[in-house]
Parts: sequence; C-alpha cells; structure tokens
Amino acid sequence: MQRWNGWGDENIYLELPTRALRMLHDLIGKGQGRPDYPLEQFIKRMPESRLNSHPWISFDPKLRLDHAHGQSLPDWIGLRGGKLRRFPDGVALPTTAAEIQELLKFAIDNNAVVIPYGGGTSVVGHLEVPETRRPVLSLSLERFNRLTDLDSSSRLATFESGIRGPQLEYQLNSRGFTLGHYPQSFEYSSLGGWVVTRSSGQQSRHYGRIEQLFAGGEVLTPRGALKLPPFPASAAGPDLRQILLGSEGKMGVLTNAPPAGPRFLPLPTPAATRAAATRSSRWWTAPRRSSPARRTSRSTAPTRSIRPTPACRRPATTAARPSSATTTRCWSPRTASCRSSGLGPRPMTVATVRPQQARLR
Ligand SMILES: Cc1cc2nc3c(=O)[nH]c(=O)nc-3n(C[C@H](O)[C@H](O)[C@H](O)COP(=O)(O)OP(=O)(O)OC[C@H]3O[C@@H](n4cnc5c(N)ncnc54)[C@H](O)[C@@H]3O)c2cc1C
Repeated sequence: MQRWNGWGDENIYLELPTRALRMLHDLIGKGQGRPDYPLEQFIKRMPESRLNSHPWISFDPKLRLDHAHGQSLPDWIGLRGGKLRRFPDGVALPTTAAEIQELLKFAIDNNAVVIPYGGGTSVVGHLEVPETRRPVLSLSLERFNRLTDLDSSSRLATFESGIRGPQLEYQLNSRGFTLGHYPQSFEYSSLGGWVVTRSSGQQSRHYGRIEQLFAGGEVLTPRGALKLPPFPASAAGPDLRQILLGSEGKMGVLTNAPPAGPRFLPLPTPAATRAAATRSSRWWTAPRRSSPARRTSRSTAPTRSIRPTPACRRPATTAARPSSATTTRCWSPRTASCRSSGLGPRPMTVATVRPQQARLR
C-alpha cells in the first residue's frame, strides 16, 4: 500500500548506508530524528466539511488528507511535521465522464473550487488546497482508468485519463505495444496528469515527450465539453491541444485521452533486446584503451570496427530492411540499439521487457 506520508510502498523501507550517515554527521552534526506526526492526529483535527452532501462525494477524513497534497519536499514536511492545515472538503471518485460532468455542475451550483487529482505526484504545489471561504472539492480520477479503444493500424489508443503508468503499459504491452513514457513517478502518476503537466520521462529522447505522444482528447468544463480530435498533422489554424498541455487542470478536466496518435510503438523483439543488452554490457564493462593502430583504423573506417549483432544479421522479414551498407553499422554505443537496421525501436530496458510480453508480438 502507498505510504500515507511519503513516497512509495509502506512495506519497503530503505536504510541510509553508514557512509552516507557519517557524511551527514560530518556536515550538519549529530542531529536528532523527530517522530512522525501521527495519522490519528490529522484525522482528529480534520475540519468540518463545508460541502453539501452528494452521493458521489466522500467526506472520509483519511481520503481528504490523502488528497490534500502532492509529493514535494514542502508537502512531506507538512505531513511529517503535522503542519498541513488545509484539506479538501470532500473527495469525489467518478468512474465515467458523465459523472465528472455532473460533479462539475454540482461544484458550480455550490460555488465550490474543483481540484482535479490524477496520481497526486505533483511537486509544484498544484494540488494544494487554496485559502478560501469557498468549499473545495477534490476530483480524483483514480477509478476513471479503462482502455476504451485501440486502433492498432493507426496506433491510437484511447484511455480514460486517470489510468496510471503501470496499468497503461500493461494494457499496451499485452497487445504488443508500448507508449514508452516513463517519468520517474511512473508507478503512481496518471495519463491525464502527464498531459496537463507536460511531463517527460527517462526514455523521452527516443519515444518523445508527452506533447509529442498526446493526440487529443476531451476536456470537460463547467460550461460543457471541449473536443480535441486526434487529427493528423494539419496546416490549418492553431493547435488547440497546446492550451491543455501544461495547464495544470486550469482549463478543465481531461477525460478520454488518446495518448499516442500514430506514435505508440511495437514492443522491441526479444532478439533485438538481447542483442542490445549483450552489446551495452560489453561496452560499459569492458572499455578497452585503443592502441594507436586501432585509433587510426577507427578514424579512417569507423563503421567497420563495429560488427553487426546477431539480431542485425537476421534475414529481412519486411520491406523496411535497409541496405547492407547500413546494417554493418547498426549498433551504436550511444543508443545501444540496432537503430539503423530497421529492427524496431530502441528497447526499453531489459527488465521492463518481460519475455511473456515480448512473445505476444
Ligand atoms: C518521485 C517523483 C518523480 C518525478 N519524476 C518526474 C519525471 O521524471 N518527469 C516529470 O515530468 N515529472 C516528474 N515528477 C512530477 C510529477 O510526477 C508529474 O508532474 C506528473 O505528470 C504528475 O502526474 P499526476 O497524475 O500525479 O498528476 P497530479 O499530481 O495528480 O496533478 C498534477 C496537476 O495536474 C492536474 N490534473 C491531474 N489530472 C488531471 C486531469 N485528468 N485533467 C485535468 N487536470 C488534471 C492537477 O489538478 C494538478 O494541477 C515526479 C514527481 C515525483 C514525486
């Protein structure tokens, strides 16, 4: 289960290594660890809700506490030191777009502030409850998390926006695809959150940042819906998706989000993954100092000193097979992939491509 006052699973506890403790001791002295502020105290001092009751809104104090913060350092200090003072008056967990629209109408009728909540991993304070006399409703998209459509020929998947990273990749991987978007908050952050925060991940250099992957969607506002259809590249007029990207929930609630347009990719083949893993571990574990003779031969014939991997030598199975001139230099130490061989995208990491997922291709 997710830790209530910090990052990660509460069953995993990592000790600081002795050397790090010693270094801290040298830098700031002995110091004294303070006990964490207890959860029960937060629950006890939770203020009365200012919201009218509604069948889809929960007033559970633990839920209100969980939706009162993100995961920044000030958030953690507020939680662990008991300094967090403002909480949403209620938390709604809608499961359909119609419920979200209905809740927005309820908020308008009750003059309430609405804070959309994806995975709660914001580090810039956008989930913070404002100081206001108006009631505050946290609109959690946690249960709005299904894959509703997948068009494998145009490589366009439509997900509900509350889907979190692991669920999204599981859905795509089990059909032989990947989005390849891995911010370091991947486990808990959501598709909608990625779009409205313009997030990027550790493999975005290859797969593209979220603004390149986001094809369109629907944004619900108190005044109705704004549809952003997944057009192909267009020369007509401004791109309205840009007003949503980076909006941090200010433009409305992103609901159905096709994330990847024509850009979600087939999973790498097991052979390509194995080849890249073998090559990359050789590259990193056995850096050889080159002799003057080797240096000369590299500078005059750089492509010949790199031999093709077994995967790159496989016979062509598709028309996309490149010419033999390019296959001889298919492995690049910088990208650790069979990039110019046409054998597929750069592998994710060896660990994330599990055999049973790759076999499904
Ligand atoms: C340990 C850690 C590592 C991180 N690593 C990265 C990283 O590598 N790259 C990166 O870019 N960021 C990173 N972040 C920041 C954060 O994870 C991202 O900004 C992420 O995209 C937020 O997604 P979320 O679903 O958690 O959104 P939330 O935190 O729930 O919300 C963020 C903002 O989006 C709004 N919002 C959420 N869902 C919707 C929706 N469906 N419609 C409208 N508005 C919505 C919220 O109101 C809020 O303003 C990291 C954070 C942590 C704690």
